[in-house]
Amino acid sequence: MSAKRIALVTGGSRGIGAAVALRLARDGMDVAITYVSNPDRAKEVVAEIEGLGRRGVAIEADSADADAVVAAVDRTAQELGGLDVLVNNAGILLAGPLSELSLDDIDRTLTVNVRAVLLASQAAARHLPSGGRIISIGSNLATHVPGPGMTLYSASKAALIGMTKGLARDLGPRGITANIVAPGSTDTDMNPADGPGAEAQRTGTALGRYNHVDDIAAAVAYLAGEGGRNVTGTTLLVDAGTNA
Ligand code: NDP
Repeated sequence: MSAKRIALVTGGSRGIGAAVALRLARDGMDVAITYVSNPDRAKEVVAEIEGLGRRGVAIEADSADADAVVAAVDRTAQELGGLDVLVNNAGILLAGPLSELSLDDIDRTLTVNVRAVLLASQAAARHLPSGGRIISIGSNLATHVPGPGMTLYSASKAALIGMTKGLARDLGPRGITANIVAPGSTDTDMNPADGPGAEAQRTGTALGRYNHVDDIAAAVAYLAGEGGRNVTGTTLLVDAGTNA
């Protein structure tokens, strides 16, 4: 593993992605992030990365746009001088009654949560050296669905499990690992710890608490680091025991 390492975190302007980007910067990496709607927040994250003495780049790239996804990977490698770690974090949650899911809902979710992950991973594979890492943010809802309204989201996150096992096999011969970090309820704009459904989620955990975004960043940092060198094709569940 080279001393100087470069990461790309998709959806790094807020929430889990921002925490991951900052943690990887703290661990010594230069970090590019993508965003779709929030240039100001993305700039703030880049400023924080630079404040840590690392290089940062913010790239506008809608994960629903196939060309933009691939271009973001290539631009990271070009501007920062390579790519060692891809974190597929950008994701959307469209929850609701099965009967009300539209074709657009289904297409958008599968495009952002699944297709973009595959495209970014494929593009990253052209740059990643031996020791490279692909880490995708899944969900504990991929393997246990505690209530209604989650069919589409759970399907999208479950798809990452098979994809990641495939990537592990495709890229293992080159010394590249592929894994998932699967969060449970994590306090972000997507799922605020004081939101209407929060108490039920908290009650469903073994530990009685939400994740902090840094809990997820720590798991990503482990898989991205030397300690994760022989972990591939698997899922690290960080859900405070919800699925226990
Ligand atoms: P947030 O909604 O809080 O943040 C989403 C981030 O992704 C933002 O940076 C946003 O950019 C970016 N993003 C959203 N859509 C796109 C898109 N189409 N293209 C590019 N970037 C996009 O989400 P979280 O931090 O909570 O979630 C991050 C990941 O973790 C997701 O994959 C989610 O499914 C997963 N997860 C979250 C859980 C939770 O409880 N929070 C639990 C389990 C999994 P911008 O700021 O520009 O809008």
